[in-house]
Amino acid sequence: MKKAFIRKIISNQYTIVDLDTREEFIAQARGKLRYMKLDQDDVFNKQLTRKTKKDTKIIQISPKIGDKVYYALDHDQIFIEEICPRDNELERPDVANVDQVLLVFSAIRPDFSFYLLDKFLVILEQEGLKPMIVISKIDLIDEIPLKSIQKDMLYYEKIGYQVYYVNSKQKIGFDVLENVFKHKITVLAGQTGVGKSTLLNALMPHLGIKTQEISDALGRGKHTTRHSELYEFNGGFIADTPGFSKIEFTIFYKDMLKEYYPDFIKLSAACKFQNQCLHIHEPKCAVKSAVENQEILQSRYDNYLQFIQEIENQKIKY
Ligand code: ZN
Repeated sequence: MKKAFIRKIISNQYTIVDLDTREEFIAQARGKLRYMKLDQDDVFNKQLTRKTKKDTKIIQISPKIGDKVYYALDHDQIFIEEICPRDNELERPDVANVDQVLLVFSAIRPDFSFYLLDKFLVILEQEGLKPMIVISKIDLIDEIPLKSIQKDMLYYEKIGYQVYYVNSKQKIGFDVLENVFKHKITVLAGQTGVGKSTLLNALMPHLGIKTQEISDALGRGKHTTRHSELYEFNGGFIADTPGFSKIEFTIFYKDMLKEYYPDFIKLSAACKFQNQCLHIHEPKCAVKSAVENQEILQSRYDNYLQFIQEIENQKIKY
């Protein structure tokens, strides 16, 4: 059987791209894909919670854009026979095998928030996705507040995140940004109103992508045909619908949070309690010392404490 990946889905019709020849075909999915028997260790089982994992023997698996699949010709029809295990998958948008996420924040309208930045970074680190940070609407903010954001963003660059500043209207910053898409499946993420769709449209003006902001406002609750698509751009693919407009932690234990802070992890070997240290009240904590010495951004640590609080409050509800 030949291997392809799914580039586009409209209802039950799949546009697949052969991985060797890059030829596109329209394919149908075999019925059996929809209900697959799973055992405990099945890769498709990993996203289920512990509870459902035990109970579930048969699960419905819908092919997603980005899925690598095996296909075959049968009576002049091309059928997707099998979905390959996924490296990762997102729900909204429905994309599998995402290589990178562009995390978009506006410098203003809505105001830039380090709280939201840290929260998004935790969630994406948890998904195993390395985000790049794009700060949009730099034309709408005054120089002094922009400088202040840029100064604190240097910390994020220092700990390994790439940061881009763009103005989608004048395409400022695009020359550098356009190079990050090659050979990658990219999804844009960020809260509503930060200019994700404007950015998408500025990158790919010929596509006339309906903005998520608009369809959110008009189409909420409306029954629409399932349509998701990856658009070829600069040698890679970008998902047409931005993701993660609402963000919630799926962390239920406060000691898990620190695992998603690459900057804390580096230091924790020097904490007295090493991996056991929550970096809150413990003595001889290298993370706390680094905050005091301004080697860790104060707001980043404050947000960490805030998230710990949120996780604890969440637990009380159950
Ligand atoms: Zn510590």
